[in-house]
Amino acid sequence: VRFVNVYKAYDVNTMVVKNLNLNVSAGEFLTLLGPSGSGKTTTLMMLAGFEEPTSGEIILDGKAINGIPAYKRGVGMVFQNYALFPHMTVGENLAFPLQARGMPRAEQQTRILQALDMVKLSNFVDRRPGQLSGGQQQRVALARALVFDPSLVLMDEPLGALDKQLRDHMQLEIKHLHDRIGVTVVYVTHDQTEALVMSDRVAVFNEGKIQQIAAPSEIYENPTTDFVAQFIGENN
Ligand code: ATP
Repeated sequence: VRFVNVYKAYDVNTMVVKNLNLNVSAGEFLTLLGPSGSGKTTTLMMLAGFEEPTSGEIILDGKAINGIPAYKRGVGMVFQNYALFPHMTVGENLAFPLQARGMPRAEQQTRILQALDMVKLSNFVDRRPGQLSGGQQQRVALARALVFDPSLVLMDEPLGALDKQLRDHMQLEIKHLHDRIGVTVVYVTHDQTEALVMSDRVAVFNEGKIQQIAAPSEIYENPTTDFVAQFIGENN
């Protein structure tokens, strides 16, 4: 994934992403970290195809994807509020992205069971989301993002609605899953600890710009701006 000179304004007077240049390597776990309003979600939405850059280019697997609609980008997504379909079973929720891609039924079933196995929920295929705990629902959302074998998964505060204990547990679970399957992940959070624990690299955002991008240890030990030093120091 590459962002080349990307700018985004929702209205003419306010640029919320300013000259973003960013490379994400295949298989990398990159976290966009920063305070509320710093442009993290906007950056993720441009990659997903829900927002278009005002100018600049976004490149995925060597191709410019500006203008390509979200459903054609082949990107898995996980959000804070899960966005599972409440009237469908877990299995039907996972079948949805496969049906949309026209996959034969027998292959769908194999894929669904594999994806549920990855998140340790093989026995829950016939339950509805309302019959699951918050952590289990988030794991279903994760399985649904992975079920069509995307090369890139985007996560926006996926653990924001969980209590602290479950959040700590899920951080490790997502990290282990990433280490196992090697998919590229771009993850958004405003939680410094979460970013430092999970990521290969962290991009610290402030006011629409990347202040520093580096491995967690580097960010922690050698912050290059006062903002990064102060933001990383908070609540740690
Ligand atoms: P948070 O952690 O609160 O989600 P963020 O870092 O993800 O913050 P963004 O959601 O990208 O930040 O928002 C960046 C700026 O763009 C904010 O000032 C926000 O008000 C503005 N913004 C976001 N979405 C829209 C929209 N659809 N229309 C107009 N302005 C928007």
